[in-house]
Amino acid sequence: MIEEQKGATEAENLLEDLGFDSLPICPKGIVSAINYDDFNVVMEEQSFDSDKILGKAVGNDKGALIYLNANILDPGRMKFTAAHEIGHVSMHIIPQLKMSFECGSKEFSNPFNDPVEKQANGFASGLLMPRSLIKKHSDCDINWCDISVISELCGASLEATYRRLSFLEKAPSAMVIHQNGKFRRFVATENFDFFIDQTPLSGHQKSLAVDVKDDPYPSDFDTVDASDWINPYSKGMTLESIYSSTILLKDGFTYTLLSYDDDCIVEEFDY
Ligand SMILES: [Zn+2]
Repeated sequence: MIEEQKGATEAENLLEDLGFDSLPICPKGIVSAINYDDFNVVMEEQSFDSDKILGKAVGNDKGALIYLNANILDPGRMKFTAAHEIGHVSMHIIPQLKMSFECGSKEFSNPFNDPVEKQANGFASGLLMPRSLIKKHSDCDINWCDISVISELCGASLEATYRRLSFLEKAPSAMVIHQNGKFRRFVATENFDFFIDQTPLSGHQKSLAVDVKDDPYPSDFDTVDASDWINPYSKGMTLESIYSSTILLKDGFTYTLLSYDDDCIVEEFDY
């Protein structure tokens, strides 16, 4: 998490230096603000041969070019990609640490173990969701209500917003994604100590989902059996219950937040 933090702090400092103090932050506006006579920065959309590449950044000592894949349909994804590439320009190309980047979904996903990619992801999330500005609008608690408010305000996806808030919040939590009941992937904080089941949703789990087409994003959680979601044994600890909150989105996607606290842990006795 240290590299992500470095990136986020760098982005927050840049916003402050440039005087950006309201949401949403528009990556195009940042590019114009850092495009100087002695160092040109240009960002444009381009059709790439491969859809695996989302964004590129190349540069030398005179300037930098950012290319975004014109086929990215999701506006949140496009924005995050732009912010990620601006991170490469400002943290790597300008200091001449590395001059060329091609970033695909592998570089954007969490476990990818490359410090410069982690820094660029941290930069993107700090740029689009700077702590001081989002705190003005929300308590930034980990629940779907706060996540949706900030995601809307910043033009970031729900997943990117969860990642940002879970990082600021520090309590153990995870977000699990299913589509049509099938497990897709999860993201979890580093202090989430339990293995998440990669199994299809049960009928009971589906019945708890709030359809956000019809109902507001929930701010509360259900208390359910821990074994519904995770292997409840880890590091000498047993979880009896876990807090879950599931929302149903379009295309059959369900997103579930999981968290736990001391009340969920079974007391161990020494005999
Ligand atoms: Zn990258």
